[in-house]
Amino acid sequence: MDNNILNTDLYKILNLDKNSTKDEIKKSFRSLSKKYHPDVTKGDDSEFKKINTAYSILGDDNNKSEYDIKSEYGKNYNPNINNNPFGDIFGDIFNMSNFSNLNKKNDISITISLNMLEIINGTSKTIKYNIKSKCDACDGNGGTDLKECPYCKGTGRIVNKVNTLFGTIRQESECRHCNDGFVTNNTCKKCNGDGLKDEEKIINIDIPEVVSESARLKMFGYGNYNKKTKKYDDLIIKISEIPNPIFKRINNDVYMSVEISIIDAILGNNLSIDGPRGKLKLKIENGVTHGHKIKLEKSGIKDPTSGIFGDLFIVLHIKIPKNITNEEKIILKKLRDSKNFN
Ligand SMILES: [Zn+2]
Ligand SMILES: [Zn+2]
Repeated sequence: MDNNILNTDLYKILNLDKNSTKDEIKKSFRSLSKKYHPDVTKGDDSEFKKINTAYSILGDDNNKSEYDIKSEYGKNYNPNINNNPFGDIFGDIFNMSNFSNLNKKNDISITISLNMLEIINGTSKTIKYNIKSKCDACDGNGGTDLKECPYCKGTGRIVNKVNTLFGTIRQESECRHCNDGFVTNNTCKKCNGDGLKDEEKIINIDIPEVVSESARLKMFGYGNYNKKTKKYDDLIIKISEIPNPIFKRINNDVYMSVEISIIDAILGNNLSIDGPRGKLKLKIENGVTHGHKIKLEKSGIKDPTSGIFGDLFIVLHIKIPKNITNEEKIILKKLRDSKNFN
């Protein structure tokens, strides 16, 4: 579709708004084209052309939905649905990037947000999304007694020349006379000849440990039904990493901050902490300072290609209490005057 046309409100040209029905569009086009037809008195050639352009798009289901979506979301609209890490929220999923080419491979892509612990340990997620599935009544054919479409000679595609305000554009689109190159006298009543139906899918996905942000998990056959190949296309799962205040990742190393008391920093201690893979025993040497790093080798993230683990760095943060009791104050004041604290 010509991008310039996206900046024009075609509905306005037909005195309509976005919610107008097919009938209203047709009606308005008819009455306006009668009014402005160059052959009638007070006809207006340029207005008539505008109306025709608007109707050539809004009057055609495919053109209209393409126009609606592209004018709303822009040419490069590419839906990216992020779910929240603690729920499984998905909206309508439709791969708009291939919108005008429904016959071509039309995978659905979903982004799942994972926190660091899920990335390190792997997880499973239940996701909900919408697909176009095969109409069972007609087996995806749109009807019975199929014959090759005479308009597109069975290709399902037609090259249109559309006159727009900005000149003539060559536009290849789906043939409007047929369903993927076939016509029938016996249109399926269930899908109105579309061969497809909307279906909500709920599936469970096992996400392996250590997926990187660039990872793409392909779920074969979980996408939209493809009338051309008579198979289901794929579902692509993209991973997005939710920043975590405790665990940070630098390549395959994980940095984790742990708070310790000032007493433990001075005296040392053996602590049990919640690490990225569960409980960890942590030995604090005496005399550690704020920001001290303890390296636990090969406790980081496994490299997906080499299989080698990165390291885990525990960064110590020394807590300084804001409020202390009088008793503690007395002890600390005593300490202040002692040999190693002054
Ligand atoms: Zn059907
Ligand atoms: Zn056709």
